Amino acid sequence: MKIGIDAGGTLIKVVTETNNKRTFKKWLTTQIDQVAEWLNHIDKADISITGGKAQYLDSIIKHNVKRSIEFEATYTGIQILLKEHDIHLDTYIFSNVGTGTSIHYATAQNQERAGGTGAGGGMIQGLGYLLTQISDYEELVQTAINGDRDKIDLKVKHIYKGDKTPISGDLTAANFGHVLQNIHDDFPNADRLAALMGIVGETVTTVSIHAAKQFKTENVVYIGSSFVNNDLLRNIVVDYTILRGLNPYFIENGEFSGALGSIYC
Ligand code: ATP
Ligand code: MG
Repeated sequence: MKIGIDAGGTLIKVVTETNNKRTFKKWLTTQIDQVAEWLNHIDKADISITGGKAQYLDSIIKHNVKRSIEFEATYTGIQILLKEHDIHLDTYIFSNVGTGTSIHYATAQNQERAGGTGAGGGMIQGLGYLLTQISDYEELVQTAINGDRDKIDLKVKHIYKGDKTPISGDLTAANFGHVLQNIHDDFPNADRLAALMGIVGETVTTVSIHAAKQFKTENVVYIGSSFVNNDLLRNIVVDYTILRGLNPYFIENGEFSGALGSIYC
């Protein structure tokens, strides 16, 4: 049995492969000791580990493990998944929207880091809690679905008020910039969280687009558990990427790229 593990800041992703059968499993990083206990009950396995918590996990398990570099493992995993899904891209940007967001340029041969932003899944959870006192991830993303950003986010057309706009009036001019103009209204949790998905999605996309322009590619592959059960974030990213003339890609189980790739690099 082969086990690939990506122990990240928030979630531990585990891929197992036996006789060409692949399984995927996630644990919270706060459960890292349970993951170690599970591994320590396994007699024999080829284990590879990557991610920020790899060192710690390695130190509490009995097995000799292979350690791989997170960015290389992620790239290797994406290449495998793209091929399996018949997606052929000569060059692309991949944006790993995890706790934080890391952005890379990839070719058929290798990857190089192109940048990043602190807007990502950790911001959704942390700022989401500050705005609504909701700490449960599922509740957070479900609540956001029915939100309306109109009273919170300032659009270009709000500023130009009927005058001809130099860019699309529907673009966000200022995330959260409409609040004080609607100060006497209520701001339900759903609206606050929808606006939060807006700022995270638009920031991640903006940084990814700049990287794509810098490296002259038209493709952006988005991965990371931040998109799991979060169609609102996904749609914001897809729409904005297309609006800016680039091709967005999401791959099934993309958040397991690092765990899968660690087995093969
Ligand atoms: P990093 O790569 O930055 O070290 P990570 O690998 O742990 O972090 P991911 O697993 O890709 O990051 O994504 C973590 C994010 O996924 C969380 O911040 C949250 O927004 C989202 N998420 C999805 N499912 C869950 C869940 N069940 N519990 C908590 N967060 C979740
Ligand atoms: Mg990660």
